[in-house]
Amino acid sequence: MAIILDGKKEAKKIRMELKEKISGLKEKPGLAVIMVGDNPASKVYVNNKEKDCKEIGFYSEIHKLPEKTTETEIIDLIDKLNNNKKIHGIIVQLPLPKHLNSTKITNLILPEKDVDGFTFVNLGKLLTNTPGLIACTPKGCMHFIKLTGESIEGKNAVVIGRSNIVGKPMAILLMHANATVTICHSKTKNLSEITSKADILVAAIGKEKFIKSEMVKQGAIVIDVGMNIDKNGKLCGDVDFESVEKKASFITPVPGGVGPMTRAILMQNTYEAFLNFQNMKG
Ligand code: NAP
Repeated sequence: MAIILDGKKEAKKIRMELKEKISGLKEKPGLAVIMVGDNPASKVYVNNKEKDCKEIGFYSEIHKLPEKTTETEIIDLIDKLNNNKKIHGIIVQLPLPKHLNSTKITNLILPEKDVDGFTFVNLGKLLTNTPGLIACTPKGCMHFIKLTGESIEGKNAVVIGRSNIVGKPMAILLMHANATVTICHSKTKNLSEITSKADILVAAIGKEKFIKSEMVKQGAIVIDVGMNIDKNGKLCGDVDFESVEKKASFITPVPGGVGPMTRAILMQNTYEAFLNFQNMKG
């Protein structure tokens, strides 16, 4: 039976550590969140971010803009936030309405305030193993893998999914940690053959219970990034938890795994950005 990596517990620990770190400070880390339209899932995510900031003691600003907001209006807001000294981290909640170009808009955020790690500058830094702000979900997955206490070096790591926000940065982080990395996607042939050789398996696919126990190596570390709604309306991952937990050595559950960890890492990134600004001031 696998050891379950408890994301809720670990996220709470990270938040408490941050709370303690900033308790004596006069100036607090500040996070600004921009949300356009009223996507119900986005509303939940944004409210959670505000709640996390409050719990830790960060300053936060939530900018809820109407669906028909123009590109110029968002550009103006990002410009103001880039120049606002109380703000150290800025995120644009995705998805944006169709008339807005999310790549263009995300890249207007000052890289030093890009706590989602989505700007080309921070992605380039990640690729070249240069210190920068790293996307929260893959950074959180690495946190879980390190928590296992197992060495990553020389291990076979398989990442399923090649999105810019999860799969690709995840594979790069594992490569920098000296794993031998294979990236799989929808055109991959003989997927099971590849996954069943993985010492570390990261599933970021978006398909309910897609990874079955026969696709997993005995004793593997399994990280489930997926967030899917099953036929009963319940949140579930990309991994068939019930069968895979019998074979894996460590596994993250859904809910209660990568989701809460991602939230905590956003807070960590905001603190990191804040520290960088403090250091720049000298
Ligand atoms: P995405 O952009 O849709 O990417 C999905 C990836 O899975 C693509 O690379 C796709 O391949 C690959 N894929 C799809 N079907 C496949 C198949 N049958 N076999 C192998 N690979 C397949 O999704 P994403 O943004 O990376 O997110 C992935 C999942 O993680 C979603 O469930 C999302 O909700 C969840 N997520 C969770 C968090 C969190 O905080 N917990 C954060 C971000 C995302 P192609 O490239 O060939 O299309």
